[in-house]
Amino acid sequence: MVNIKVEKAAGERMFEDQYNDQMEAEILRLENEKCMIEAGHRAVREIVSRKHWIFDLDGTLTVAVHDFKAIREALAIPADADILGHLDALPPEESALLHRKLDSIERDLSEKTAPASGARELLSLLAQDGCKIGILTRNTHEIARLTLALTGLEEFFPEPSFIIGRCEAAPKPDPQGALHLASLWGVPPEEIVVTGDYLYDLLCGRSIGAATIHVDPVGEFRWSEFADLRVTSLNEVALMRQELDLLHVSQV
Ligand SMILES: [Mg+2]
Repeated sequence: MVNIKVEKAAGERMFEDQYNDQMEAEILRLENEKCMIEAGHRAVREIVSRKHWIFDLDGTLTVAVHDFKAIREALAIPADADILGHLDALPPEESALLHRKLDSIERDLSEKTAPASGARELLSLLAQDGCKIGILTRNTHEIARLTLALTGLEEFFPEPSFIIGRCEAAPKPDPQGALHLASLWGVPPEEIVVTGDYLYDLLCGRSIGAATIHVDPVGEFRWSEFADLRVTSLNEVALMRQELDLLHVSQV
């Protein structure tokens, strides 16, 4: 009888110890998870609160209308070739002729696009906060400005030298244009955010040590490894920026 009691008490203690161990492990796991989530939120806040922003234009600040397959066919460019790289490798006269054709196609496209969802909201918030905002596009400077005028976004880009087209710098993913903006603004590239809808935007940002935001309306995020932040529209970034403002106000 005594032995049964002793065994029962020992069994209960063992069960209690196991239960406590499990609880401690679970608490530790939850604390780690909380730390990781908080670290993630801090990282996101750090990116979104930056003061220097470089945007891609087509498909990022504006709705994507470029049919690159059709453009390649119109210019007799092989399906897997980089359009600008292919044109620049041609003899000068042929290259110039096809560049003019490409300009004409892109001029037509500029009339068909519209501001991307959240573009105006985000640009307004950045402008209100005195952020430096630039564009780095594989389009031309002239067509970029035409697109901004036609989409009603030009007010956010009063400084023409902050709009870098394919004639002002080597096209993305080459970092030349992004580095030029960093130098114009007098900040290290690590303080910049590069936002875009394509791999070249992300590679360009990564190569200079900037933070990268990938905007993918479809939500596939094919190049996750090169994106610090992934959003389906600029609205999400605008909301994050607004939350920062609210946080700041509540801390004052
Ligand atoms: Mg784009």
